[in-house]
Amino acid sequence: ACRPAPTASRSNTSCRCQSTYNHFVGQDAPRTPEASSGFTLAVKDNIATADLPTQCASRILAGHQSPFEATIVRQLRERGAFVVGKTNMDEFGMGSHSTNSSHGPVRNPLSDDVAAGGSSGGSAVAVQLGDAEMAIGTDTGGSIRLPAAYTGTVGYKPSYGMISRFGVVPYANSLDTVGVIAKDAESIRSLVFDTGIHKENDPNDPTSLPTASRERCSAAVRRQPFDLSGLTIGIPLEYNIQELDPSIREAWDSAARTLQKQGAQVVPVSLPTTTEALCAYYVLAPAEASSNLAKYDGVRYGARSEERDGPGEPLYSRTRGAGFGDEVKRRILLGTYSLSSEAMDNYFIQAQKVRRLVQRDFDRVFRAENPLQDPRQFDLSDMAEATGMADKHGPVQVDFLLSPTAPTFPPKLSELRGQSSVDAFMNDVFTVPASLAGLPAVSIPAPVEGSVFPAGLQLIGQYWNDERMLVVAEKLQ
Ligand code: GLN
Repeated sequence: ACRPAPTASRSNTSCRCQSTYNHFVGQDAPRTPEASSGFTLAVKDNIATADLPTQCASRILAGHQSPFEATIVRQLRERGAFVVGKTNMDEFGMGSHSTNSSHGPVRNPLSDDVAAGGSSGGSAVAVQLGDAEMAIGTDTGGSIRLPAAYTGTVGYKPSYGMISRFGVVPYANSLDTVGVIAKDAESIRSLVFDTGIHKENDPNDPTSLPTASRERCSAAVRRQPFDLSGLTIGIPLEYNIQELDPSIREAWDSAARTLQKQGAQVVPVSLPTTTEALCAYYVLAPAEASSNLAKYDGVRYGARSEERDGPGEPLYSRTRGAGFGDEVKRRILLGTYSLSSEAMDNYFIQAQKVRRLVQRDFDRVFRAENPLQDPRQFDLSDMAEATGMADKHGPVQVDFLLSPTAPTFPPKLSELRGQSSVDAFMNDVFTVPASLAGLPAVSIPAPVEGSVFPAGLQLIGQYWNDERMLVVAEKLQ
């Protein structure tokens, strides 16, 4: 069994009920384990559990009970997890504030009327309040890191393909990952790496990295320095945007100095495609979502509308009209459009090209080659030259990148009511690049003087360099 995370304080919780923060789904309080061994775990409601419904905060899956359990839930139960409950989220993972939910918005315990971040907001709040020592969520474009930043918890998104997604309701398959939220980076590292979850291929998930590739990636990572004094940390200049809150900029600066004091070299780097990443993400993710959500038609899947086929309005359109929330409908329309023959070349294909450029930006600044794409591994050095893949820009390469997780502190729920979806997309500007590149990233809270909200700082590592990245995260806490 893994070493349980330090027991979180349960003080101040006696008069708290579900309506206070709305972070659990269908229950007022966390379930409590009979025996005290192992650890408590909250599970986002798009991850299948055998004993509790899995509804993805959507009316279309109201009351849905999965006939099987997600691999990650089984793996964690084997390591001593007790599931305290399912957590509220943005419907199907679509959102940045956990307000797009059929159960109503999640509220941030740090202050009244403030958003908890999304889409794994319920999981972050469960950890923040000490209802669970660990929580799992999904991160497609920032959904673990953003709520972690907004609630002052640590949120880890693994390398794509490391943790099984079998039993996780897909949003955008080429981006979806399952990750962990806890109070500190060390307990996440110990849960995933000391117990060997990272070594386990899942034959039920075709994107789960095969065992041989895992070994090859781990061998590549082992060659890199572990000690902070041998590390170089890059500060991506494009992340210093005008909209960045000055206190977050200050926290970013002081974290860089902390690492420097501990012996790391800190250097500026450039990731030129960063500004395009957000646009590419919001073309690709809805496109994949529109395809994924096609199956909820009331015939094959989903809660069926009571009414029968009517003239001009078949059963499935009634079902989908009533079952999906507004944001999900918007994404389906957007995704269907960008995949249409009329728009495919201008939107979907362009976005795929931008995605490749974003990946290349990262591969250029990281000292380590991407173990999945290192052309020399397969002796394709000619191709490497022709495509420029092997060329590394700039004088120094880095081991990790340090940036803020979000440009601002969490917004007020009342302010969000008047916002457009595009305003909400802005919160993901720093988290989507690592998602597009399939890289590991973690958000760590940094205290801000005079503010109840800490700043979320993000570390990004080369592919499969997750464990070392979490070690560096520990030095920042
Ligand atoms: N906010 C992003 C979106 O709505 C990310 C969501 C996620 O990571 N699940 O797509």
